[in-house]
Amino acid sequence: MRDATGVGPVSSGGPHVVPIQAIVFDLDNTLTDFMKMKEVAIEAAIDGMIDAGFRIPRDQLRARIDTLYRELGLESQRVFDELLQREFGEVDPKILASGIVGYRRARESALVTYPHVHLTLLELTKRGIRLGVVSDAPRLQVWLRLCYLQLQHVFDAVVTFDDTGERKPSPAPFREVLRRLDVAPERSMMVGDWAERDVVGGRSLGMRTVFARYGDTFDTKESGADHEIDDVFQLVRIVDELNGTPPGSRGGTAKETT
Ligand SMILES: [Mg+2]
Repeated sequence: MRDATGVGPVSSGGPHVVPIQAIVFDLDNTLTDFMKMKEVAIEAAIDGMIDAGFRIPRDQLRARIDTLYRELGLESQRVFDELLQREFGEVDPKILASGIVGYRRARESALVTYPHVHLTLLELTKRGIRLGVVSDAPRLQVWLRLCYLQLQHVFDAVVTFDDTGERKPSPAPFREVLRRLDVAPERSMMVGDWAERDVVGGRSLGMRTVFARYGDTFDTKESGADHEIDDVFQLVRIVDELNGTPPGSRGGTAKETT
């Protein structure tokens, strides 16, 4: 159903193709390189804690932090507290604060969108496509990330873990985002980096699916998606082919042949 360009053979624009009215994005590793941000932020936190007096070899400190994130979850806000508590039996506020400041400063500069995300969202909006986000992250964390990325005004619907209490691939968050977008599943597209969650979940409701290979951290061989993309801007071409918008036109200004 797909080729190397990310546009499958179904994309001939014939009358059997249902036009796309809405696109739903996963957030982490689809719109933003979350793993890179986390990596940079943790390293800066380690610098801060060592500077404030945490005397332990850097690689050991890193290993303990990684273990804590595995235990408490990537979204945990207590990792550094827990690290100090376990090491010293108490939380040294100077070391904690130094780690947090290092983390936050690095996060602010490292939390950016993948190339062409803003351009793609703008072009999709010009075409009248409604835009949504569905994320398994907690509500506040999702909105903080969207604000850092200056995407807080872009989406018509944002569904987080707290909105349904269920994680992808459960149909609940997909159903909720489609309800808020007021669009039928077959007229929507789900874009994500995690095949077992984003692709499986979207497909279970009948959404067209797009695998964001550029965000793949699992070395996925078979995504099972209708399309695969190596750059998010390929979405614009997929939509134009499915919706029959002539390439190069903007909002139907190109001359019509019919
Ligand atoms: Mg993701």
